[in-house]
Amino acid sequence: MITSTLKILSEADKEACELVKVSEEELTVDKKRLFIESYGCQMNFSDSEIVAAVMRNADFATTSSEDNADVIFLNTCAIRDNAEQKVRNRLQYLNNLKKKRPGLIIGVLGCMAERLKTKLLDEEKMVDIVAGPDSYRDLPRLVEEAETGQKAVNVFLSREETYADISPIRLNSNGITAYISIMRGCDNMCSFCVVPYTRGRERSRDPFSIVEEARLLFADGYKEVTLLGQNVDSYKWKNETEKSAEPAQMVNFAQLLEMVALIHPDLRVRFSTSHPKDITDDVLWTMKKYENICNYIHFPAQSGNSRVLKVMNRTYDREWYIQKIDRIREILGEDCGISTDMITGFCTETEEEHQDTLSLMEYVKYDYAYMFAYSERPGTPAAKKLKDDVPEEVKKRRLQEVIALQRQHSSERNELALGKIQKVLVEGPSKRSDADLCGRNDQNKVVIFPREHYKKGDYVYVLVTECSSATLIGKAVEAVPA
Ligand code: SAM
Ligand code: SF4
Repeated sequence: MITSTLKILSEADKEACELVKVSEEELTVDKKRLFIESYGCQMNFSDSEIVAAVMRNADFATTSSEDNADVIFLNTCAIRDNAEQKVRNRLQYLNNLKKKRPGLIIGVLGCMAERLKTKLLDEEKMVDIVAGPDSYRDLPRLVEEAETGQKAVNVFLSREETYADISPIRLNSNGITAYISIMRGCDNMCSFCVVPYTRGRERSRDPFSIVEEARLLFADGYKEVTLLGQNVDSYKWKNETEKSAEPAQMVNFAQLLEMVALIHPDLRVRFSTSHPKDITDDVLWTMKKYENICNYIHFPAQSGNSRVLKVMNRTYDREWYIQKIDRIREILGEDCGISTDMITGFCTETEEEHQDTLSLMEYVKYDYAYMFAYSERPGTPAAKKLKDDVPEEVKKRRLQEVIALQRQHSSERNELALGKIQKVLVEGPSKRSDADLCGRNDQNKVVIFPREHYKKGDYVYVLVTECSSATLIGKAVEAVPA
């Protein structure tokens, strides 16, 4: 093993590859212009690509500037109150724009639209269109209706819609990595969560349409796909349309993963999100079998305390979660990247129970975590039945403790890469310097290294020489590790 010294980088040295998600400028003169701005999760970014495809069929081209737009869509998130506040602030700004250009049409799409329905029209007077996540095929009609000066609403939630036949238009794409939605909705009813109410019942998309989308992306030069769903491990597709005497064809998530991995060894496959109650050994063995399925699992715990998990209705306890972590390590090794979501200050959470979250984090040593203070969402089981009784400052203090511990663990996990060679898929130039390239390793960690003769889309072996809690830094090496 090649050794090197550890250098902890300052905050200023940290880097991430993420982009702000607004639509791009399409070069055309005679089309109406659509500006889409997406908030929230990867699923929303993926949905905006479906929206762009639907609107292209209605003769709209996308624009990157709201000043050039005939129609502005905000694809919104309702998961926490601050996500909704962000959209409200943005709407205020757009209100001024609309005063100057009365013909401008403004639509609110996605989870906030579904949660508030027509109430949104009363609260935000200049909104013309309210469209829930299952109504995107109807957007051209809604726009036409709004053009006549009427308010247009479709918040119907479907049990079947998967947009399987729509080829998304990639927005803000680096041309290398893409998201593919494999299912929609969620049937889990975690007590804190608004998703089952805003995105409806769980449904899985036809696997052959998923494989075809991934195959076309690879043919277009993409090298990585992330399969998206709220709970990918419960993906289950049954060919109900076959009338033959043959038994119905079934595909589960492990089988789908294999089908996508087999497209080409140079197409990396990621997925998100795994639910601890549903992940199977079959999925873990499939990950181990294929080098191109990335050794990384987003595995949200939410809390480290069994009583809190019960109140959250997560349907597993601390011991079950730890057993699953042990199984991941057993099958995929210590190297497997694991990340989590954690909520602090959920209803009735005591100080000792918060300590259990910290001790679970100590046990797992996550590579990365998304951490939130609990935010009560109207209409959820928690809002109806439980008291939001942890004071805001306590939630925030606990959150700070979780964040500080995670930062330490992210650094520790990144330090394990020091002196080792990582296979990196290059996503583009580094944000800070054009002389450097930026990509990700198998475990989803951002890696930065001098450009030399390498380019976007290359797989490059990089010797890691420095790290922060967020980034690995190194130098390309020619030698392929044994
Ligand atoms: N389906 C994924 C799962 O089960 O882990 C999560 C999807 S949700 C869009 C993303 C994360 O937001 C959740 O894992 C949870 O940590 C957080 N979240 C959801 N509702 C929340 C709430 N009311 N307050 C704070 N965080 C919340
Ligand atoms: Fe929300 Fe739970 Fe469904 Fe995730 S699994 S989307 S947290 S209800």
